[in-house]
Amino acid sequence: MEDWKVYTQRERIAYFTMEIGLTQDLPTYSGGLGILAGDTIKSAADLKVPVVAVTLCHRKGYFRQTIDASGWQHEHPREWRPEDHMELLPVKTLVAIEERDVKVQAWLYRVKSPTGGVVPVLFLDTDIPGNADADRRLTDHLYGGDLEYRLKQEIVLGIGGYRILRALGFDIRKYHMNEGHASLLTLELLNHCRSHVRDRWDNLFAWDTTEVSRRCVFTTHTPVEAGHDRFPWEMVRRIMGSPVPETLLKQLAGEDELNTTLLAMNLSEFVNGVAKKHGEVSKALFPGFEIHAITNGVHPFTWVSPYFVNLFDRYLPGWANEPEMLVRVDLIPDRDIWEAHMGAKAYLFQYIRETAGVELDPEVLTIGFARRAAAYKRGDLIFSDPERLIDIAGGRLQLVFGGKAHPKDTPGKEIIRNIVNNIRKYGDRIRAVYLPNYNMEVAYRLIPGVDLWLNNPIRPLEASGTSGMKAALNGVPNFSVLDGWWIEGHIEGVTGWSIGPEPKDVRPEMDASPTDATDLYRKLEQVIMPLYYGDRTGWIRVMKNAIGKNGYYFNTHVMMRRYVTEAYIA
Ligand SMILES: *Cc1c(COP(=O)(O)O)cnc(C)c1O
Repeated sequence: MEDWKVYTQRERIAYFTMEIGLTQDLPTYSGGLGILAGDTIKSAADLKVPVVAVTLCHRKGYFRQTIDASGWQHEHPREWRPEDHMELLPVKTLVAIEERDVKVQAWLYRVKSPTGGVVPVLFLDTDIPGNADADRRLTDHLYGGDLEYRLKQEIVLGIGGYRILRALGFDIRKYHMNEGHASLLTLELLNHCRSHVRDRWDNLFAWDTTEVSRRCVFTTHTPVEAGHDRFPWEMVRRIMGSPVPETLLKQLAGEDELNTTLLAMNLSEFVNGVAKKHGEVSKALFPGFEIHAITNGVHPFTWVSPYFVNLFDRYLPGWANEPEMLVRVDLIPDRDIWEAHMGAKAYLFQYIRETAGVELDPEVLTIGFARRAAAYKRGDLIFSDPERLIDIAGGRLQLVFGGKAHPKDTPGKEIIRNIVNNIRKYGDRIRAVYLPNYNMEVAYRLIPGVDLWLNNPIRPLEASGTSGMKAALNGVPNFSVLDGWWIEGHIEGVTGWSIGPEPKDVRPEMDASPTDATDLYRKLEQVIMPLYYGDRTGWIRVMKNAIGKNGYYFNTHVMMRRYVTEAYIA
């Protein structure tokens, strides 16, 4: 038996995702969604949950970022070769695109855990001789191209992914769609589950949507109407044809356009948002659906710096596969916590010296802000009033930024430019640096190496957020707007600090930026800086609480166990 066939010998959950961030060597992710997918699969492997993941291979990778002297982002290809990392499986399948048969193959990557668990990940690929040139490029670009390109990719992911699992002989218990990109797989399931009987209305086939729903789990990540993928019916008809009758499809996916989120919701028995607040927001967007909430997490071993790995191994052995043990963080002496943190800080500062030529002072309170440079995340909020910031800082604050904007996101690029220009203009009065090409490797150094992790999105647009969880696991407290996961993780002055009003006092139409900025400055000046410089024991208590009250819970082990008990075996 070929050794990949062992994965087909037991029933599995199929986890479909458009992007996945497993390691820095595989540039098949753009940000939080992809890293969440990777962390989910790693926890599944650790916990030996029988999962098979399906994604696209994105041969051209997500881009490498450089930033020019004016602060403008430039994108460079980040090509990679699947054959250097993966094994090509000897089975192909076909999908129909514009009435052409397009061949799809799969590369196998094994996510192996020290526990002995393994999760196979299939990277789908259309770059096969015999496919038309344009079709060979369909699995090249993550979130690239136009709407038609996106629809074709979703056909490859959803329909191609479903078919290749069958062709390989996988036995699938449930299909878990990570975001709506994979929802076309439900059309294959519909076809598979129809019963060949004449029904009461004398239709030849009865479509068994209940049976399809029973097999599907859907996680939505988008808190705004405009964020959901939609395709005009004319385009769907021309590119995909009609795998199921259009009248049925319109009932399930929308009369005006094919809304992939609606399709997935209508055909999934279990639907969830990615934090409690996001569950509520999703219910308001899609009235009438039962929407649960399973808060996201991060994979502990992936995101804890080597300094804290050593410490946790010494005092809390077994923590990596049972992160609940972090609740006993008080067993670790303060000086060891501080020493580990200063190690992570020195490691980051060395990287900053080498890559950006900037010398930071390890004794100075250092704030980190890095994530996708999307406008709603307001990366430049801290520069709203530079004179006020400099006045508060008084030479005792440093800032480290990072993050890529999507190539077509001009407002996001303008935020980067604004930050870089502020750094240039005020750099002699407040030390700050924008690190280029933020990715998993940079995040791994950056997040544990700062003293405070800043997040200030426009509410309620941060569905969950996960970088703050990476910070907490490394004893870096959060200083964040109350949105996404932080509403659940925040205890003021205990696990970290909030910025701006309570969630109940925020109305969507109001512009909270001025009040958020004022509160950010006030709390930095009156609460956070005095604690950091004046009461180191008090500061270390907050660090420990970040580990023991945030890190122990907001991780993908806890999250995966919830998916298993609430969605997969239900
Ligand atoms: C964790 C992570 C993110 C997600 O950050 P958020 O603050 O949750 O948006 C994005 N990019 C990289 C490289 C990460 O490691």
